[in-house]
Amino acid sequence: MIKVKTRFNPGFIQMSNHWKNLFPALTNSNIAYLDSASSCQVPEVVIDAVSQYLREGHGNPHRGMYSYSENAEAIFNRCREKVANFLNCQSTKIAFTKGTTESINLVANSLQNKINSDDTILVTQMEHHANLLPWQRLSEQTGARLNLLPVTQNGELKLDNLDNFLADNCAIFAFTHCSNVIGTSNPINQLVSAAKKHHVATLIDGAQAVAHNKVDVLDLDCDFYAFSGHKIYSPGGIGVLYSRQPDSISPLLLGGGIVNRVTDSNYQLTDEITRFEAGSINMPGIVGLDAALDFMTELDIEKIAVHEIRLIDQIRKAIEPTDYKIISHQKSKNIVSIASAQFHSHDIASILADEQVAIRAGHHCAQPCLSALGFKHCVRISVGLYNSEDDLNKLMEALEKVRSYLK
Ligand code: PLP
Repeated sequence: MIKVKTRFNPGFIQMSNHWKNLFPALTNSNIAYLDSASSCQVPEVVIDAVSQYLREGHGNPHRGMYSYSENAEAIFNRCREKVANFLNCQSTKIAFTKGTTESINLVANSLQNKINSDDTILVTQMEHHANLLPWQRLSEQTGARLNLLPVTQNGELKLDNLDNFLADNCAIFAFTHCSNVIGTSNPINQLVSAAKKHHVATLIDGAQAVAHNKVDVLDLDCDFYAFSGHKIYSPGGIGVLYSRQPDSISPLLLGGGIVNRVTDSNYQLTDEITRFEAGSINMPGIVGLDAALDFMTELDIEKIAVHEIRLIDQIRKAIEPTDYKIISHQKSKNIVSIASAQFHSHDIASILADEQVAIRAGHHCAQPCLSALGFKHCVRISVGLYNSEDDLNKLMEALEKVRSYLK
């Protein structure tokens, strides 16, 4: 059996156990949860906030004059302020969506009538399908050529042709902050600066980044930044789109809550950012996100990142001497992805699940990225703030069992 060597100081171990104790789903079970890149578990404070909100009266913001609705509206407005603080921008730039996928679709859809076959769209080969398919469709709809910045064999973006791509009538450059399959952190400041030189709009997919990095959209000066609540310890179904100039885009959905006036034949949209939030908002999601942002701020993202990087370092060191091949980027902060020449990743995942180790196997909705590296599927181990040395030992024991069961 391969044991993970302890390099933590005792205080640090105590801190990580303490953090795990904040998550009922982990303290009440035996599971080593190593799939936070997919969805994080939710801390008790967030569960309590959502539960209290539902117990005390669920309401629709802007739609009632009674206390439940007024309370919902107060939390809704407060949450927008907190997200703005979290990303360092004004709250008038923050729209709530269902998640990163919807945020990106919203922007891509807005460009439909603004670009044509003389234009190009630039994305990277490293994208989650959420930041690829909307651009592929926009290319089909408008005739604009879709260019892809390739991924090198060491899991980084190949930037040699970046200026040429940007100079090629590029309308928008959409790229991920961090890869969801190989964990690469992209040089986002450099990418935004390069785009700015060519007056190209930028969209950053922050789904994998926000739980592990401080993000400052003002400093970055990107045009759009998207993320999902369920990747930062909040319930699912709520997400964010930051836009530097919300006037440059139009709503994806039309319906209730977004107009000044409607007649039999037409409508006039409100100027407020709520014009991107047609229909009833996911209030439990808002309450959860609101509480999750407090939780993250209190714990401090930079301290969380130090803990996670140490865990990742330990996992890498434990796996390196084995037959499993590490295919994730060596500086990944939260992901170790592995492939096996002998075993299918789904077989590995299935045995690990039997051993109470939760990881993710497959193409991770990033098929072009994996193909560029010569793989069809892999096993992704990803950590969150609650993981501890015990989880890593369980993982390594389970990976050993895979070999004894399948060989
Ligand atoms: N982008 C990246 C990098 C992701 O990892 C994910 C989800 O795994 C998404 C986008 C899509 O996020 P959601 O499903 O929350 O919309």
